[in-house]
Amino acid sequence: RTADIGVTGLATMGRNLARNFARHGHVVAVHNRTESRTKQLMEEHGDEGAFVPSSSVEEFVSSLQRPRKAIIMVKAGPSTDAVIEELAGYMEPGDMIIDGGNAHFLDTRRREAALRERGLHFVGTGISGGEEGALNGPSIMPGGAAEAYETLGPLLEDIAAKVDGTPCCVHVGPDGAGHFVKMVHNGIEYADMQLIAESYDLLRQALGLSPGELADVFREWNRGELESYLIEITTEVLGHTDLATGRPFVDVVLDQAEQKGTGRWTVQSALELGVPVTGIAEAVFARALSGHPGQRAAARSLAGPNGTAPGAELIDDVRRALYASKIVAYAQGFDQITAAGEEYGWNVDRGAMATIWRGGCIIRARFLDRIRAAYEADPALPTLLAAPAFAAALADAQDSWRRVVATAATIGVPTPGFSSALAYYDGLRRDRLPAALVQGLRDFFGAHTYRRVDQAGAFHTDWSGDRRERPA
Ligand code: NDP
Repeated sequence: RTADIGVTGLATMGRNLARNFARHGHVVAVHNRTESRTKQLMEEHGDEGAFVPSSSVEEFVSSLQRPRKAIIMVKAGPSTDAVIEELAGYMEPGDMIIDGGNAHFLDTRRREAALRERGLHFVGTGISGGEEGALNGPSIMPGGAAEAYETLGPLLEDIAAKVDGTPCCVHVGPDGAGHFVKMVHNGIEYADMQLIAESYDLLRQALGLSPGELADVFREWNRGELESYLIEITTEVLGHTDLATGRPFVDVVLDQAEQKGTGRWTVQSALELGVPVTGIAEAVFARALSGHPGQRAAARSLAGPNGTAPGAELIDDVRRALYASKIVAYAQGFDQITAAGEEYGWNVDRGAMATIWRGGCIIRARFLDRIRAAYEADPALPTLLAAPAFAAALADAQDSWRRVVATAATIGVPTPGFSSALAYYDGLRRDRLPAALVQGLRDFFGAHTYRRVDQAGAFHTDWSGDRRERPA
C-alpha cells in the first residue's frame, strides 16, 4: 500500500505527528532507526488509522506515493544530515524531504541548496506545540520552495491547529524562512516567560502575596487583554502544591533556568542583523544569571536599598506594564523577521505569522489577533508600536509601566524585561538621541566620520589640529 506521507523518527514528536496524520484519514508510512519504536507505535496506536510500517529506509521510501513526502523528526544536528543523506539516496527528482526538527535556519539553507542541486525539495519546517500539539494540532511553519508547498501544504494544513476555522499553517517563505520564524517564535516565548516571571517576583516581593494568591491574580488577568496559554499555565504552576512537602511547588524548584538554545540562536541572529531584540536578549541573560550559583552566593551580601513598597495598586500597574512590555517584545521579534526577510530575500507576510501563532503553539494568545489586524491594516508597518491600537495601549499603560520600573528599582527587585522594554520604547520615540555624541566621540578618537543634520555627505573634524571640519 502506498502512503500519502511518511514520518521517520518516532520518538515523542514523530510518533504523535504520525498519529495526527492517521487520525485525519491519511495513509502514513512510519519508520525509526531502532525498530522497536515502530513496533511500539503499531501495537499501541495501530488501530487509530492507516499506518504503513517499515523496518528499513529503503522500504520506507518505496512505500511513499510520488512525489514522495518524508518528514524527518529526529534529534536536530548531525543526525538530521545523516538521515537526509540516507533518504535522498532512494529518492527521485520532485520528491520532498521535510525536516520538522528544531534545526538552525542556516543549516536548513545549506541543506535546501544541496538537495535542490539534486532535484529534490527540502522543506525545513518549524513545528511548535510540543508533544501535545504534535498530536492534536501544532502550529506549523514550513519553508522551502512554493512549488513544494502546493502539494505538501494541504496535508500540513489538515493536521495543524485551527483557530476560527483557519489552519495554523502557512508557507512562510523559501529555504530557511520556516525554521527562522520558528526560532523567533521561541525567542518571543523566552521574553514572554521572563515578563511573567518578573510580574510574579515583583508582586510577591513588594506585596508579600503567596504563590496561591498570585495564581488568583494571574487567573484574573487571563480574562483580559493578556489572555494567553502562558498566563493560563502560570496560574496552574503557581497554584500547585508540592506533594512531598506541602509547600508551594514554585518554592521547591531550584531557581536556575535552563535553555536548549533557540533563545540564544535568536539573539545571535539579531546581533548579526543589527536588530535590537532587547526583550529576548534580557530573557536569555536572566536565565544565564540564574545559572551562576557561585556568583550569586558571592553577591548575596552586597548592599540593597531601603526603599518602601507601594500598596495593592501595584497589581494593576504590573498588569499594564506586562502588557506594554509584551507589545515591545513582539514588536522586536517581528522586526527581526522583517530584517531577515530583507537579508535572505524571503518576503515573509508578518500578519500571516501572527495568524498561525494563534493556535497550537506556546505563545498562542488573544493578543495575536491584534497583531494580525495591525499588519492587515498596514502591511508595511515600520514598527508594531506605531499601529494605532498598540500606540493607544502603550499610551494607556505608560504611567503604570514607569511606576513599576521605578518601584522595582526602589525596592531592589530586578526587572530587566520591564526596564529594557521601557528604555526601548523611550529610545524609539525620542526626537534626538545621544547617538550624536557617540558619533562625535568616534570621530574624535578614530576619525570614523559623521553625517550632519543640515548637509549630505560624511565629515571629519580635525580634532588634534585646527578643529576645522572637512568633507571625508
Ligand atoms: P529526540 O530529539 O529525542 O530524538 C530522538 C529520535 O531521533 C529517535 O527517533 C532517534 O532514533 C532519532 N535519531 C537520533 N539520531 C539518529 C540518527 N543518527 N539516525 C536516525 N535516527 C536518529 O526526539 P523528539 O521527538 O523529542 O524530537 C524530534 C525533533 O523535534 C527534534 O529535532 C526536536 O528538537 C524537535 N522537537 C520539537 C518540539 C516542539 O515543540 N516543536 C518539542 C520537542 C522536540 P532511535 O529511536 O533509533 O534512537
